[in-house]
Amino acid sequence: MSITGECFCGSIKYEISGALKDARSCHCSRCRKTFSSQASAYALVDHNEFKWLQGADLLTSYSSQQSFGLQFCSKCGSTLCGTFNGLIHGVTLGCVNGDPHVEIGYHIFVGSKAAWEVMPEGVKTYAEGAPDNG
Ligand SMILES: [Zn+2]
Ligand SMILES: [Zn+2]
Repeated sequence: MSITGECFCGSIKYEISGALKDARSCHCSRCRKTFSSQASAYALVDHNEFKWLQGADLLTSYSSQQSFGLQFCSKCGSTLCGTFNGLIHGVTLGCVNGDPHVEIGYHIFVGSKAAWEVMPEGVKTYAEGAPDNG
């Protein structure tokens, strides 16, 4: 059973043969812009377990930091994945199809969340990054 994902217009599709790991939501201002949302929803993937099924030629990349980048659909604008040193690092959960059997485990940079966002009760939050990872 593999996990699949696609952009809003459906031109770009991918498949992940392994499991998604370390799903998190980051509320920093950079992630808000990146995801056009109140926060990111992102999970890590082993790049060896990820492959594009179609439309990879439509991907556009943007990098605001040296090693970390983002890839999105040049037709519809969906952000599909993050890259690290040119390799797939993780996927945006919004573009994953169905239930990938992972849940967002924690929320980071809640200390710099948008003024208009109301955090749900009962979720694990950190004012900045999580202690063990970034
Ligand atoms: Zn698209
Ligand atoms: Zn962030």
